[in-house]
Amino acid sequence: MKTVGVDIGGTNVRAILFDGKRILKKCSNRIEAKKGRKQVLRNIIKTIDAVITKDTRTIGMSTAGVIVDGRYLFSPNVPLANFNLKRFLEKKYKKKIVVENDANAFAWGEYLRGIGRKSRIMIGLIVGTGIGSGIIANNKIYEGTTGSAGEIGHTVIDRNGPTCSCGKKGHVEAFCSGPGIERRYQKKTGNYRFVKDIFDAKDTTSKMIVEETYELLAVGLANAVNILNPDMIILGGGVSNSLQPKRLLKKIKKYAIPGSTTKLKVVKSRLGNDAGCIGAALLPKK
Ligand SMILES: [Zn+2]
Repeated sequence: MKTVGVDIGGTNVRAILFDGKRILKKCSNRIEAKKGRKQVLRNIIKTIDAVITKDTRTIGMSTAGVIVDGRYLFSPNVPLANFNLKRFLEKKYKKKIVVENDANAFAWGEYLRGIGRKSRIMIGLIVGTGIGSGIIANNKIYEGTTGSAGEIGHTVIDRNGPTCSCGKKGHVEAFCSGPGIERRYQKKTGNYRFVKDIFDAKDTTSKMIVEETYELLAVGLANAVNILNPDMIILGGGVSNSLQPKRLLKKIKKYAIPGSTTKLKVVKSRLGNDAGCIGAALLPKK
């Protein structure tokens, strides 16, 4: 069965044609979020049209934000707030459309076709411009009551901490996302440095900021680990390229209760940039 998987990011929209095992076609275009809703929708359609075939059964969409029944309640990257993407695409393509949060789609892709295949309770964590996460438990994406479960990036680690992209204070994302790390560095030194360079640098201040990043991320993850008792945490996203899974696991063990980490593994994504699209293409299986 052929399905289309689409990943709507803040910069690009990517689509694949997937036969359940292999990617048959791929296309990527700029999303052009600043040009407004019409252009964004045009770019999404252009990208889907480049890969879709007549015998495509379903289209799965992976996108940042909170989506309930296909409608965006919150859309941080593209101007689609309050827009029902599912209904729009159903009208256009007359096929089954599934719209899912991007971190959930990432976790789902890694669970079904990536490094999480043997996992039973799994956290997929995307550390990039923001921090998104999806929870897979017992062969399902754990959605919660209104579809917003698994927001580990927005758990509170310091109630007096900096303001997060969501408007609340002291969330993990405000400290440990790419911009969060750069802000902490800038506050300390007065200078801007790109997050990857902070990780690569050998000076004392950069090393301290990196150590603090591991500590703070581990606090957030230890809270999640205590609640969920997962067997695997899979790291994806730009910042995670700089993270060492073993160092992070050691820190998580420092904060979580002993019984919750005995079988815990922290690993990097296997599907890389394709995880979102593959997860999206497999969403109809949910
Ligand atoms: Zn937040």
